[in-house]
Amino acid sequence: MSIITKISKADAGSPSGSPTLVDPFGRVITYVRVSVTDRCDMRCVYCMSEDMNFLPKSDVLTLEELDRLCSAFVRRGVSKLRITGGEPLVRRGIMSFFRSLSRHLESGALKELTLTTNGSQLETHAVELAALGVRRLNISLDTLEPVKFRAITRWGDLAKVMRGVAAAQDAGMAVKINMVAMNGVNDIEIPRMLEWAHGRGMDLTLIEVMPLGKIEAERADQFLPLSLVERQLSERYSLQPIDYKTGGPARYVRVAETGGRLGFITPHTHNFCESCNRVRITCTGTLFMCLGQEDAADLRAPLRVSQSDDLLDKAIEDAIARKPKGHDFVIGRRGAAPAVTRHMSVTGG
Ligand code: SAM
Repeated sequence: MSIITKISKADAGSPSGSPTLVDPFGRVITYVRVSVTDRCDMRCVYCMSEDMNFLPKSDVLTLEELDRLCSAFVRRGVSKLRITGGEPLVRRGIMSFFRSLSRHLESGALKELTLTTNGSQLETHAVELAALGVRRLNISLDTLEPVKFRAITRWGDLAKVMRGVAAAQDAGMAVKINMVAMNGVNDIEIPRMLEWAHGRGMDLTLIEVMPLGKIEAERADQFLPLSLVERQLSERYSLQPIDYKTGGPARYVRVAETGGRLGFITPHTHNFCESCNRVRITCTGTLFMCLGQEDAADLRAPLRVSQSDDLLDKAIEDAIARKPKGHDFVIGRRGAAPAVTRHMSVTGG
């Protein structure tokens, strides 16, 4: 009997009656992030190089295949799906994918369907996303200055993103702003971002730059330890630790002066692996058991070889049995190769 079956028999099991997915360290996998495309309408300097090679269409799973994959995880007790990319909302037909997945919300098997987006397409899609049951979403935004925004994203238009943020809020979705904190780039803007986000009823989460994929800039130059940011912010604001959890890796404080929540995602300065309940799937159906490790399982072959899900289920079980204890991100010395060769846009943030 495999370790997963052994532990999960003792466990309550998934709503469908299939055994839940439990890794060798006893962590129950309840959260899957799915990248639906490697393409994006921006080229953020810490995320992609300007000249990226994108995948041929035949390598990318169809939306029907992605749905089958997500549903296999939902059957095994995954209760939270985050759709990401690349930029998920630039994938053609993406709303039909959300429409189809929303059946798992209606059945109660899925507690949350959400997405991470750069906000550029939200003006068009926010109302329908909310109608389909997306209650909250993450919007990535690193600066409020148009010129700096263009420099960071290379191609982005801040005004369009701002309209997207407003559209999401108007549609009734809770918005969390994700800001990658970069040394000498947007660090001085953190208090302004905080007051802007909290002033509009949005959480703000700060993220440390992670060494994923080769880019033009030096990671060592970009990296800003959030332990330092937190120390500096606490000279200006009263930061009260709170027990708020979203199922993700952020640790939250309440900012007394604004009343809002501030999250820290600190893969370098505060290791969050012990409570990791997540796995990630790329748009080619590759399952990464850890964002910061190279080991992966191919789910596309079992998906395409048969219409039955038996092989797929077995491949998922085998992969979860290999989920590592944690990652070991190190921003190397100047000129060093990235710790992980994949870009974040491949694995999905
Ligand atoms: N296009 C969508 C977006 O912008 O939110 C989804 C994909 S993007 C890869 C997801 C998140 O990963 C974004 O918040 C982005 O800022 C973050 N990200 C990308 N590369 C990163 C890196 N090397 N270190 C830390 N965060 C990164």
